[in-house]
Amino acid sequence: MSEPRIIFATGNPNKMREIREIFADSVRTTLSIKEAGICSDPEENGRSFSENAMIKAKAVHCLCPNDIVMADDSGLVVDYLNGEPGIYSARWMGRETPYSEKNAALLRRLEGVKGHARSARFTAAIACILPDGRQLITEADMEGEVAEMPAGTNGFGYDPIFYLPEMGKCAAQLSEEEKNAISHRGKALRKMRELLKDNL
Ligand code: IMP
Repeated sequence: MSEPRIIFATGNPNKMREIREIFADSVRTTLSIKEAGICSDPEENGRSFSENAMIKAKAVHCLCPNDIVMADDSGLVVDYLNGEPGIYSARWMGRETPYSEKNAALLRRLEGVKGHARSARFTAAIACILPDGRQLITEADMEGEVAEMPAGTNGFGYDPIFYLPEMGKCAAQLSEEEKNAISHRGKALRKMRELLKDNL
């Protein structure tokens, strides 16, 4: 039988680029669901990033049980807002609302809040299901603060208002390589790469 492929449950080309870079030393073919000819969009009704990542992985595992399936879920957690937008980050204020509006709304809700009270983190969970049904999960954070004002044009989503105090910059001011080296998703993916080495 041929070696299982790695199928990643995302349609996002930026995520696929990062995944391919991180799994570059693997001999396995790494495909997005689209490249594998699969259509999957399950309801993300879990209570955590890990649960939602596993829901996405299970939906794809049912369609290609002989492959290694991975899925991710991520979001911005703002401490002052009791963890909002959290697992609802993509849906917060509506999926179609431009991030310029979502970011402006978050800044308004933190008006007058100073320094470390603006603490926030991006969290990413990666779920993996092996052909024998074993389930693996990794999770990682990128710590920072909600910026006082948006800065930068790189990245996506909440990057322009996510300030990294140690770098003195917002995530949207980092190059793709700089961000991938420290990002929640990059760290969770590298943890998964190591976990897979131990489990295959
Ligand atoms: P998903 O993991 O693709 O479901 O995306 C979750 C949502 O979290 C995204 O649509 C963004 O709003 C937000 N998010 C996750 N990671 C990042 C990031 O690295 N930068 C900016 N926003 C992010």
